[in-house]
Amino acid sequence: VGVLKGAIMVMADLSRELRFHAQMDWMVVSSYGAGTKSSGVVRILKDLDSDITDRDVLIVEDIIESGLTLSWLKENFQSRGAKSVRIVTMLRKPTLQKVDLEVEYVGYDIPEDFVVGYGLDYAEDYRNLRDVAILSPTMYEDK
Ligand code: 5GP
Ligand code: MG
Repeated sequence: VGVLKGAIMVMADLSRELRFHAQMDWMVVSSYGAGTKSSGVVRILKDLDSDITDRDVLIVEDIIESGLTLSWLKENFQSRGAKSVRIVTMLRKPTLQKVDLEVEYVGYDIPEDFVVGYGLDYAEDYRNLRDVAILSPTMYEDK
């Protein structure tokens, strides 16, 4: 299960490396609005198309900051009766994590900067950058 829209690049890369049959599904959740800080309030904007009862689920995420979004999502999937729920994330900001969350696969741990590119946006811009870049705070301060 990829978390749209940020996880599109990771999902595209990862899924092509899997050497077994895997189905793909997507969720759209919102915890940020247009700003750069997690609100902790998760809204489902698009739910799964598939039934995950008794399925092994791998959540594919772009970045984990507070961990609030994913710990909410993990519990949500468990309550739907998934056989297992594991997490892969391209990036994680360990110093900003607020909740205890077991993450099975982490690409890179990064500092506290706000990053864009490779699927990650700021107000829907920069997702198509080929690299992950730190967004200059002058781009969002005083806004
Ligand atoms: P959390 O709930 O873990 O605080 O936030 C997770 C979500 O916040 C990510 O899926 C992502 O959408 C967004 N997010 C957190 N940090 C960043 C960042 O540095 N850049 C961008 N573009 N989004 C971020
Ligand atoms: Mg995300």
